[in-house]
Amino acid sequence: MIEVKGVNYTYQPGTIQEKVALRNINLEIPSPSFLCIVGANGSGKSTFARLINGLLIPQVGDVIVDGINTKDEDKLWEIRKNVGLVFQNPDNQIVGMTVEEDIAFGCENLGLPPKEIEERIEFALKAVGMEEYRKYPPYLLSGGQKQRVAIAGVLAMLPKYIVLDEPTTMLDPKGRKEIMEIIKNLYEKEKKTIILITHHMEEAIWAERIIVFFKGEIVAQGNPKEIFSKDELLELWGLNLPLTTRISKCLYERGFNLPHPLLSPEELALWL
Ligand code: ADP
Ligand code: MG
Repeated sequence: MIEVKGVNYTYQPGTIQEKVALRNINLEIPSPSFLCIVGANGSGKSTFARLINGLLIPQVGDVIVDGINTKDEDKLWEIRKNVGLVFQNPDNQIVGMTVEEDIAFGCENLGLPPKEIEERIEFALKAVGMEEYRKYPPYLLSGGQKQRVAIAGVLAMLPKYIVLDEPTTMLDPKGRKEIMEIIKNLYEKEKKTIILITHHMEEAIWAERIIVFFKGEIVAQGNPKEIFSKDELLELWGLNLPLTTRISKCLYERGFNLPHPLLSPEELALWL
């Protein structure tokens, strides 16, 4: 479990550029679970992601990962190993000359023996459906494929928690769909705890629990049905359901047989 207790985070405290990014954040993330964090730009989502894997340390309050406080410097590597972070732009995360080299990178940093790294690469490639691309140079891949490689690199380190910070934002609809399928699998099959940060509201439908950040504070939490019923508040928080998603919601509420109430534009097009 990840426990976030009374956390405040301020950038450049005590300077003229001081910026309070998070205020009084309290949250418990059980394992396994699938949590989604939504919020407008600047609401503190990325700061939160960096706090829970110990990249940032709160000035006030505590972040405790499986009993270890991120303030305990001696054990920080343990936390980083357990909480994998996937970022928005796959190009900034790829370091290897080939897909397999890239996936191996994190494991090599953990100092694992080559045989074990080999096994983990195989497992990770399979989990993201990229077995055939093992020897490919990453620059030949699509955005969605690169993001799958980035996820595989994190996965190979066998983290218990995977934080994905807007992982589909740079991708086309096809890439977004691929990544969402993989994320669902990681939760359902691999029993990972998923913390998905997104502002594509229709992606949040897959989570068990949604947390809404607004100006550095948690303003709402609940299951997708509870959150998506707050139409007016969502607007206030700067969160828009795409028009087509709102249409599918109306159809669903009127008894049409949709697979789920919040279809993405692409899904709605298929359904129509
Ligand atoms: P989000 O991911 O929701 O867009 P962030 O966590 O990136 O939000 O940012 C929260 C607030 O902190 C914003 O007002 C942002 O401008 C500020 N901020 C983020 N990173 C820094 C930084 N390195 N230095 C100063 N302010 C920052
Ligand atoms: Mg962000």
